[in-house]
Amino acid sequence: MSQFASVNQEACIACGACNSAAPDIFDLDYNGIAGVIYEGDRNRGITAIEPELQEDLQEAFTSCPTHCIRLAVVPFAS
Ligand code: SF4
Repeated sequence: MSQFASVNQEACIACGACNSAAPDIFDLDYNGIAGVIYEGDRNRGITAIEPELQEDLQEAFTSCPTHCIRLAVVPFAS
């Protein structure tokens, strides 16, 4: 099953763990704050992440120290 992801950027501490675990899904901005960059999502959480990347996504999710990565089986509001 595909999932949707978005970062609660107010809680992100710019550690980079998500980008290390899933560089195709997460990237950091010029302040080090993470966001979902997958397929141009721009952290909106409206782009289904392909099943092949689910393992990376789960690793990023579990490695986030502030639990600010949000996952859902339906799109977040666009
Ligand atoms: S792992 Fe969490 S706290 Fe660290 S950069 Fe990614 S979203 Fe931010």
